[in-house]
Amino acid sequence: MRVVAATGNAGKLAEIAAILAPLGIDVVPQSAFGVPEAPEPHPTFVENALAKARHAARHTGLPALADDSGICVRALGGAPGVQSARYAGEPRSDARNNARLLADLAGSADRAAYYFAVLVLVRSAEDPEPLIAEGRWHGEVIDAPRGSNGFGYDPFFLLPDEGRTAAELEPAHKNAISHRARALQRLAALLRERGA
Ligand code: IMP
Repeated sequence: MRVVAATGNAGKLAEIAAILAPLGIDVVPQSAFGVPEAPEPHPTFVENALAKARHAARHTGLPALADDSGICVRALGGAPGVQSARYAGEPRSDARNNARLLADLAGSADRAAYYFAVLVLVRSAEDPEPLIAEGRWHGEVIDAPRGSNGFGYDPFFLLPDEGRTAAELEPAHKNAISHRARALQRLAALLRERGA
């Protein structure tokens, strides 16, 4: 089965391709078909991922897989959430997003947060039964950055079990235990259940 991935991010593509290859699924980026970026206007991760998957399926006629993700901070009522990529506005900037997050959390003793990822796979643009898989990765937000791997909020996202931030993990290790990895494992299980 060939599946078009509604992401242009090379790291995410490699992660997705590696987990789905054993199921006989060949993942092709939507850029290979000239699919334009879809808007992400919705208030929930799953709606945004579904919209992106439908968009890619409509443009290519192929099954399509899309993801949406972000960081949800308990003391901020789940913010930045779906707004994670543009928390400090446009143009998108990890540095400004992190600065805003720390400013919002100033004085707060509650630092609990999790990364959330959802993956949506549609067999066609109008698929009435999309496969939906979620993953969460719990940690806490710290005030001083540590590590230089990863991206986004990683230098400030401490994994208590690891004693390190996500940016201090080897990329392969992060890719094996992250929110996206958990969602991908779940998706692979759903595909096996469906008999893919
Ligand atoms: P997406 O690419 O639309 O899913 O944007 C997700 C945003 O959430 C990114 O721009 C980051 O700000 C944040 N995010 C999601 N996953 C991660 C991660 O693994 N590390 C750091 N930040 C992440």
